[in-house]
Amino acid sequence: MSRVFYAKPEPLTDVTEESILQHPIECQCCRQPLRSGLADWHFYCPACSYEAASLTPSINDESNPVKPDEVERETGLRVVRQRNFVKIIERVRQLCDAASPRLLEVGCAHGLFLEMVARDFDAVGIEPHREVARETAARGFAVREGYFPSALQADDRFDVIVFNDVLEHIPDLPDVLRACRDCLNDNGILVINLPDSSGIFYRLSRLLARIGIRGMFERMWQLNYPSPHLHYFNGRNLQQLISAHSFDQLYCARLDSLVADGLFDRIAHTKEYSLPVAYLMYAAARLSIPLLGMLPADIQLQIFRKRGQAHTPGGVHDRSSGRAGDQTGITPGPT
Ligand SMILES: [Zn+2]
Repeated sequence: MSRVFYAKPEPLTDVTEESILQHPIECQCCRQPLRSGLADWHFYCPACSYEAASLTPSINDESNPVKPDEVERETGLRVVRQRNFVKIIERVRQLCDAASPRLLEVGCAHGLFLEMVARDFDAVGIEPHREVARETAARGFAVREGYFPSALQADDRFDVIVFNDVLEHIPDLPDVLRACRDCLNDNGILVINLPDSSGIFYRLSRLLARIGIRGMFERMWQLNYPSPHLHYFNGRNLQQLISAHSFDQLYCARLDSLVADGLFDRIAHTKEYSLPVAYLMYAAARLSIPLLGMLPADIQLQIFRKRGQAHTPGGVHDRSSGRAGDQTGITPGPT
């Protein structure tokens, strides 16, 4: 693993050109030095708008201050995930041309995606959370406990690799993207969906943090969670990062992050808010749903194909990669 990105930076109170040069963290997407952001753990790239957190994941660490209730968490996220997974699976089925396709989901959690994809794909999941991995395996899903790619066998190969809300939790993305390339068959497909830094909720949280109201911003980064967010991308800088690892973009879209069903469980599952505060947050979020249809959605979906050997330019961003239009009811997002 590269140590360059994760060297713990000194918090910068007064950013000058000099202090930027001494900054130990560089952008994952364009390799420019990052600048200090809105908290001592938050950084951003002035060149491409990529954002990073110097937070440390502590999955399976019982001493973590926030202990999400896994049952409420699953209930709360189930409806919005199910709805988005239907769209993702439909799109992947159209793009995958393998005869009997083998699919890997990295970070399969409770197996919802594995369950939904089982009819069309021979599906395997990887899950680092010990208890969740064992529960999901006990329900009959093919789950390997551990991390990608070390939880795989040396000769494991797939036609599709999927990261559903997972890539933003992984410290060393270049290693993981190289492993994706190695584990994909020719014409293999990489599916990524994650929070978008140009989404309305994230922008609002940044705005509030600038005036000293930090709760929402910290929640968006999942500060003090066992597995906090370590990256925030927009459509353009994510495409730049993935393309540099010899993938061509096939499709991009925005997905909704909020639906009314399961919303209260989603707010309450960490137990960090009192009941009245949780109800207040629920009411505000519930009332905002009709407005959200008109604003940039907070989840982005990008699908890539492994670039063939014949035209691999060796880490150069392919600006000619195509964009598919919307055929599935997904709102195409700006890249
Ligand atoms: Zn950058």
